[in-house]
Amino acid sequence: GELEGSREKIDYVFKVVVIGDSAVGKTQILSRFTKNEFCFDSKSTIGVEFQTRTLAIKSKVIKAQIWDTAGQERYRAVTSAYYRGALGAMLVYDITKRQSFDHVARWVEELRAHADNSIAIMLIGNKADLVDLRAVPKEDALEFAENQGLFFSETSALSGDNVDTAFFKLLEEIYSVV
Ligand code: GDP
Ligand code: MG
Repeated sequence: GELEGSREKIDYVFKVVVIGDSAVGKTQILSRFTKNEFCFDSKSTIGVEFQTRTLAIKSKVIKAQIWDTAGQERYRAVTSAYYRGALGAMLVYDITKRQSFDHVARWVEELRAHADNSIAIMLIGNKADLVDLRAVPKEDALEFAENQGLFFSETSALSGDNVDTAFFKLLEEIYSVV
């Protein structure tokens, strides 16, 4: 259920970080999940920011606090403070950019180095609306995710396809272990 603006008390705050190469759609995924918006002429993100969405999982009120990188991903300068206290991660690549998928292993290493061991990770192949430009077969990503113990989904921040489903899956997983 949707609980934004409700006066109910919040049972849990879950910090989730969004990571992945520049331009894969991290900021748009966040915007779609928290505001149900897609911004066609968004500037690249400046400064570390987070957005929230309050929702119910198994009748508990959960505030999801979703952190966005500051364009630091270009310089591989995401600091350990960014990962501190994160219970979940959305690791995003672009299904039309092979390189962004090739870098996923590095991002997993970053998580293993800086985040809590028990962090739940969802691998996201974004821009699934651009099927004609696909450069990463779904099977390759699924195989990688299975080998690494990650959840996996393809999404489109543009159409909204699977964005909520992917976040709910991750948040439910976090909830199941708190
Ligand atoms: P970030 O650098 O990872 O935060 O990427 P942005 O969210 O700023 O998006 C980068 C570019 O990809 C922008 O031009 C977006 O409009 C575009 N984009 C993001 N998500 C999608 C999507 O699902 N489909 C399509 N077609 N374009 C997208
Ligand atoms: Mg961004």
